[in-house]
Formats: sequence, C-alpha cells, structure tokens
Amino acid sequence: MPSAYAYFQGKVVPIEEAKISVMTHALHYGTAVFEGIRGNWNADDNCHYLFRMREHFERLALSCKIMMLDLKEPIDELCRLSVEIVERSGFTEDVYLRPLVYTSSEQLGVRLHNLEHDTLIFVTPFPAYLPDSARCHTSTWRRVNDTGIPPRAKVTGIYANSALAKTEANLNGFDEAIMLNEDGHVSEGSGENIFMIRKGKLITPGPADNVLEGITAATVFQLAKDELGLEVVERSIDRSELYVCDELFMTGTAAHLTPVVEVDRRPVGSGRIGPYTTRLSGLFYDAIRGKNPRYRDWCTPARALVAR
Ligand code: PMP
Repeated sequence: MPSAYAYFQGKVVPIEEAKISVMTHALHYGTAVFEGIRGNWNADDNCHYLFRMREHFERLALSCKIMMLDLKEPIDELCRLSVEIVERSGFTEDVYLRPLVYTSSEQLGVRLHNLEHDTLIFVTPFPAYLPDSARCHTSTWRRVNDTGIPPRAKVTGIYANSALAKTEANLNGFDEAIMLNEDGHVSEGSGENIFMIRKGKLITPGPADNVLEGITAATVFQLAKDELGLEVVERSIDRSELYVCDELFMTGTAAHLTPVVEVDRRPVGSGRIGPYTTRLSGLFYDAIRGKNPRYRDWCTPARALVAR
C-alpha cells in the first residue's frame, strides 16, 4: 500500500510524524516560501517523472533570497530528497511535491530577521486541478504588487490574495479568476499564468505585470517557438483584449495547460478549444510524462519501489 513520506527537520519520516507547533511563526505571519513540483505518473515506464525539478528548487532559492530565509540544503540534496520521498511513498498516480522553507521559530513578533528557518518537503497524490476547459471571470481583487509583497517570490502570505480571488470566482460560478494588476492590466490567475493567441502570436504578460515567473509558462514558450514556430511576445494585455483574442489558456504546475473558453460571460474565439491550444497541449502532456525524447531532460525519473 502506498503511504506518504516527508522530509522534515532534517530527516525523511512517515508524513504522520511531520508535525509543527501551533506557535510556528510562519503559520501566523505568512513568513514562508514554497514550490509545487509535479510527479507525472507514466504507467509504461512504471515511474514518476518529476517535471523540471531543479528549476523549481532554483526558484525556491530566489524566493528565499527575497524573503531573507535560509535555505540550508543545497539544490542537489533537495532534488535527491524529493526523488527519495516519491520512491518510498509508492504512489502509482500523479503526485505533487510541496517544498516549503518556513520560519520555524516559536516567537511572537512580526519580522524576518533573527528567527530560525527550516525546510520541509511532502508528497501527496494530486489529480487534475482545473476542469478540461475553464470558464473565468475578471476578479474584483487586484494582484499584489512588487511594492507590497513581491509576486516573483512564492511567499505563502501572497496566497491570501489568491484565495480571495479564487473563492470569489468559484462562488460566482466560475472555475478560475483572472486578476488585474494595480495598473488595470491582466496579470495572472490565482495560481496560473495566462496566455492568449491573437493575430497568430502567442502573448503573455511579462514580470513587470506582477506575475510569478512560471516554469510551465517557460515550457510552453519554448514548445511554441521550437515546435510550432510561433512568435512569442511578453507584453501587457488589456482586459478587453481577452474578449477579442482568438484563444486563451492558463498554465501552472497544478493547472498544467488549461484552455479557457469563456471570460466574463463572453466566449473566447468560437467558444471551443482552439487549434494552437490543442497542439500545444498535446506537446506539453507528452513532454511532462517523459514521452518526447527531445524534452526528456526536463523529467527526473522516480521509480515506485513498492509497486514493483
Ligand atoms: N502564478 C501563480 C500565482 C502561481 O501560484 C503559479 C503556480 N506555481 C503559477 C503562476 C505558475 O507557475 P509554475 O508554472 O511555475 O507552476
């Protein structure tokens, strides 16, 4: 039987043994940074492929730098530990790894300096996060600005902003929120980057529009350029441009590549998943499951020891 393991306080332990105190600083003040890494199950190869794991840990290190958190473990060690916990857990379905660097001190008082930090990683089964195609609305909540909490760092506290937007969208009957930044330009979803196809180009907002610099987005950029010969552009997008674009989709570790077929009750293009989105998602899903030899470098295998 599969059973989840975690890396906690310097050791790999069964997940039930990984418990933190109610006084943990990060729980109260949002003083932690995290990552999400997919382990995509490939039944033919009897293994998970951990997708672009090193890039995720590199981004974790940048988030730590911004938030002045100590990342004690070298990136190679974090990669090794991740493979170990996926292998020991023995799942034979898609999984998600959650690395977290958090302020573990049990002192009250909001600040970043002179506090202890720790690293944890856990693994959990993780099916599809969004429906096969999504209906979205423009959120009344604006994306946090770099002048507030830098959105290029994956800070837990930022996700209060995402949670407000996601809940508003869901309670209003939509699958996902599209947040504008303080300038009124399109920024991103609650946990996804956003892309549109317009006049034959693939367009997405750049980092100055307060987006997380997505690893899935970088993947889709490369596939669009190399495989489809598409011109890819980073530039600001107006809300009304979403209403007249030809195709729209969201990308993220949790969301994979999710087509958006409706925005603010207007159909995107014809209201059906468009041809570029279909081709890109085919390429993307093959790449993340280790099925395209050209992109195999993106995939780190973790064998299901229990299943063999
Ligand atoms: N934006 C936000 C706010 C996110 O939480 C995520 C998920 N990590 C993304 C974009 C997509 O980033 P990635 O493709 O690296 O998962």
